[in-house]
Amino acid sequence: MNKPFNAGDALQPKSKFRPLSVNQVEVGGFFGPRVDVVATTTAKLLFDRCIEARMLEQVDPDLPNPGIVIPFDHGNTVTTQMFWDSDFGKSIETAAYALNRKRDEELEARVDAVIDAYGRLQAEDGYLNSWYQRIQPGQRWTNLRDRHELYNAGHLIEGAVAYYHATGKRKFLDIMCRYADCIDATFGADANKKRGYPGHPELELALVKLGRVTGEQRYLDLAKFFVDERGREPKYFDQEAIARGEKPEDFHFTTLEYCQAHKPVREQREVVGHAVRAAYLYAGMADVATEFSDESLDPALEALWSHLTDRNLYVTGGFGPSKDNEGLTFDYDLPNETAYAETCAAVALVFWASRMLGRAPDARFADVMERALYNGALSGLSEDGTHFFYDNPLESYGNHHRWRWHRCPCCPPNISRLVASIGTYFYGVAEDELALHLYCENAAEIEVAGTKVGVKQETAYPKDGRIAVTLTPEAPVEFTLSLRVPGWARGFSLAINGEASDATPEKGYLRIRRQWQAGDTIELDLEMQPEMLYAHPKVAPDQGRAALLRGPLIYCVEETDNKAPLNAYVVKDGAPVTLDQAEGLGDTVALSIEALVESQPTDALYATTPPERTSASLKAIPYYLWDNRAPGEMLVWLRREA
Ligand SMILES: [Zn+2]
Repeated sequence: MNKPFNAGDALQPKSKFRPLSVNQVEVGGFFGPRVDVVATTTAKLLFDRCIEARMLEQVDPDLPNPGIVIPFDHGNTVTTQMFWDSDFGKSIETAAYALNRKRDEELEARVDAVIDAYGRLQAEDGYLNSWYQRIQPGQRWTNLRDRHELYNAGHLIEGAVAYYHATGKRKFLDIMCRYADCIDATFGADANKKRGYPGHPELELALVKLGRVTGEQRYLDLAKFFVDERGREPKYFDQEAIARGEKPEDFHFTTLEYCQAHKPVREQREVVGHAVRAAYLYAGMADVATEFSDESLDPALEALWSHLTDRNLYVTGGFGPSKDNEGLTFDYDLPNETAYAETCAAVALVFWASRMLGRAPDARFADVMERALYNGALSGLSEDGTHFFYDNPLESYGNHHRWRWHRCPCCPPNISRLVASIGTYFYGVAEDELALHLYCENAAEIEVAGTKVGVKQETAYPKDGRIAVTLTPEAPVEFTLSLRVPGWARGFSLAINGEASDATPEKGYLRIRRQWQAGDTIELDLEMQPEMLYAHPKVAPDQGRAALLRGPLIYCVEETDNKAPLNAYVVKDGAPVTLDQAEGLGDTVALSIEALVESQPTDALYATTPPERTSASLKAIPYYLWDNRAPGEMLVWLRREA
């Protein structure tokens, strides 16, 4: 393992939990093979498909200009081609994690070639945006609201930070520092600067990463400026529209709620608008709250969190039901078959939740992070790493399948970078506390309380709930080890060096403080059993239905294992559920549940006699695995016996 890069001491406030960098965690177990698939297949495929889509032609000033490849949309204001830098940024980030997993000279050379092209494209003053430099020159900083200019910068920065961590090469990081400096010289509270902020949030959290890796406070300050400035009067996006000769009220999405710029962030209480924008913004806010110990952001963050998780979150951890605004509509609007629930939104929720853990372990956040990760996010990637869901419905009549590529290919590199960097979400480390947020077989090297500590998790999780943790500090060292007890666990047992402990969870974490010695072991056994979940009465489509859960996994039934129509089956509350296997899904734990199946003696569309019911059983598989076998119906919310 490479030595982890630590931000400057000046940037190390006390008791602030930061994630590890990807090179600190060697991932095995459940996620190991998934990281390998991304490392060996998906990372290269993303580059192939970006280049097939002609992205490199737009970036490389030495190649003929491709011009408009994807037509303008939204009343002739945007084309997804404006976002291509973000797709490259996320693909570079994925490749970086892939290279960390497994050196691959060919892939590294391909990434270097793209980075070189960006180096050649970069303007004298540091500006870097392939759309505005090559397709629409002379228009930079004229439409932050719609055209993803600062969003693109964020993704390129994240790519640069990841590539630096993975390879130790500074070139891309230096390029992006120059661009960040250009942005810093352009935007800010000084009278000679623009008071703009990203139309699509993302740069905020990227600047925090850049600040942490370089130790430069000014990047954190710029992230804070963008958070603080957002939604203030007079509205920057409206003034910008007027300057373009447009009426603010002609905005395609009608209201600035769409991009969460309708009011200052500290006054926001409800999750509104475009789902991915929302969660990226809140992730940036949580990062700023952590880095600046800014408690003034807490009431907004807490209210937004509750609004999402208490009223607007799918059971899979996806959110944003509507295709129209790719986002939120009204409370409890959670349709299943038409659920948009973009893969990027579930990925973004993992980002947001992980950052809500920045100041203290709290299972409210980690539980949702886990739910979104294992279900609504992971479903976005096929088992072989070659196909991708954009939207993630909870019911399908057999016509919804993963894409090879998408005209707006935001999701493929987003789920890929999350999976390939998953080890960084397992832990949070503060000065003298180490929190274990997610369980998975892995070995990590972490500095806690000034001492290097080897941490090893041995577990088959989520197949079962037994986790053995071994600590190997270089020298005996006192710190708090915090172990999450997930909300779904009906019970747990804990033993330290073989001795039973009666520790009780605090905000869902067992916080054990002692002097740790090399070879200390902690065994945590979480009671993991199949459960039925029922939705709040206001969620109309789920009434009279139940979903199946086991541990972090939400289950669904598929036509491959069960005879369609799947809505002909009814299950009884408390019906016995047994662990099973499903064909074609390796040793995945499937569930079998007793059911009744309804039928009519004739093919008449309507009948005056109620259906007949006969005994049957249903086999359910983890939701994230659906559509990996033969196409067919899929259903999460099963009918309950009336
Ligand atoms: Zn997406």
